[in-house]
Amino acid sequence: MRRRGKYIVFALDRGFLVFHLRMTGRLLLGEVPAGDARAAFRTEGGWLSFVDRRRLATAEYSRELRLELGPEPLGDLSWLPDALVASRRPIKLWLMDQKNIAGIGNIYAAEILFSAGIDPRRPANSLRPQEISRLMAAIPGVLTRAMEHRGTTFSDYRDPSGNPGGFQGLLQVYQRAGEPCPRCGTPIQRIELGGRGTYFCPGCQR
Ligand SMILES: [Zn+2]
Repeated sequence: MRRRGKYIVFALDRGFLVFHLRMTGRLLLGEVPAGDARAAFRTEGGWLSFVDRRRLATAEYSRELRLELGPEPLGDLSWLPDALVASRRPIKLWLMDQKNIAGIGNIYAAEILFSAGIDPRRPANSLRPQEISRLMAAIPGVLTRAMEHRGTTFSDYRDPSGNPGGFQGLLQVYQRAGEPCPRCGTPIQRIELGGRGTYFCPGCQR
């Protein structure tokens, strides 16, 4: 079993079982299948239950593993400056495009750009070297900290032991519209960018 981007991949004797939990899916390990499981798999370590009350998550079997994903966000990022130069898309949308870099969704894109002090609407190719350096530090910084707190739970997300994440209390801008920026005190703004709610500080994200 391994993770690739936002996917959880089980390599079987033949083929692959690929889960995408999205906002609400859970994989729970227990001695019996969970009562509300959409599917359950018997493993050597117990029953692995796939639970998703809102049915947004997916589980797919395929003979070949075909995931169109960019590089991992926690690996070497030395390729990033050249890639950014080639795109005029707003940097937040660029970060969320899984073909560019895998594993960054709406919440973490907002938090990464706040950490780096970059306005989410800036074209990717407009970032200066200093800003790209801050971005390259913020990507693993924010994601690692979120994982240390076992992720972000707003409603359904649970870790494999059934516990909610702990990162939602540490979010700096996401879903904090109107609250003072923790860095400069300016009220956090919410805008729509690419159809997604986008939170940022107009004071210190330039
Ligand atoms: Zn600020």
